Amino acid sequence: MNNVTINEIQRFSFDNTNVRGERVLLNSAYQEIIKRKQYPLSLEKLLGEFVAAIALLRDIIKIDGVLSIQAKGNGFLSTLMTECDENQNLRGIAQWDENQDIPDTFSLKDVLDGGYLAITIQPRNGQRYQGIVEIVGDTLSECLEQYFSQSEQLPSRVWLAANGAQCGGLFLQRLPLEQAKEGDEDAWERFTQLASTVKEEELLGLETEVLLHRLYHEEEVRLYDTKPMQFGCSCSRQRTLDAVMSLGSEEIRELLIEQGSVMVDCQFCAEKYEFTEDELADLLGDQAKTH
Ligand SMILES: [Zn+2]
Repeated sequence: MNNVTINEIQRFSFDNTNVRGERVLLNSAYQEIIKRKQYPLSLEKLLGEFVAAIALLRDIIKIDGVLSIQAKGNGFLSTLMTECDENQNLRGIAQWDENQDIPDTFSLKDVLDGGYLAITIQPRNGQRYQGIVEIVGDTLSECLEQYFSQSEQLPSRVWLAANGAQCGGLFLQRLPLEQAKEGDEDAWERFTQLASTVKEEELLGLETEVLLHRLYHEEEVRLYDTKPMQFGCSCSRQRTLDAVMSLGSEEIRELLIEQGSVMVDCQFCAEKYEFTEDELADLLGDQAKTH
């Protein structure tokens, strides 16, 4: 399967229980994200876990708009951000101190070192909402499980993995009892225990149907339609111009003196935007004129 492009998310449920799940598997969409910079492998993996996580969240928190997870760290990692919109466009980036040695393995808690993790919901029409995710345990999975149990009051389990070529995730959630078709008291315990046996190479290497069959061959698993996901950047000339204008006239003028125009490369997709002195002077008035 390694040579096949597979970027998709699929929902599933177990018949006669109140347990539902999601599985995401991405390769080229993830590779598009990590190829923008020379990331150390351990950061490619961490970014991959965040990409898989935002894909899962996107399908669970249904809003018409953009969902993002952002980490701000005080160690070698300063920022890590992934984002997904309602059309399953994914993008992400990490910024780190390139002068520091990056360990091969680390815990999320160590990386953040007193920083924070936040989930932001930005509906197309409506108020932006940001929720801080409590840092518990060593992994993003544990933090997300905590987030779900607090924000949705639903027991949830998350498994994430990434290896620099693929990233993937598995999600299980126990819905309120009234939605159970019949009582199966042990179902949640049983399904999460079986999912806990999943190996990284299975999470990253097996198609969803095969993976679920391997884990749950004795259960009635119902698979829903797959949804394609892809790398996609929401940058635009106008949004970039807005960011430039927010620098203020003094700084823009300095950039114009140094460079003749203002050049901005989108860090997510490498798109180049150039704003000429005339264009900026029109917007800023004479303050931006360098001559
Ligand atoms: Zn872009």
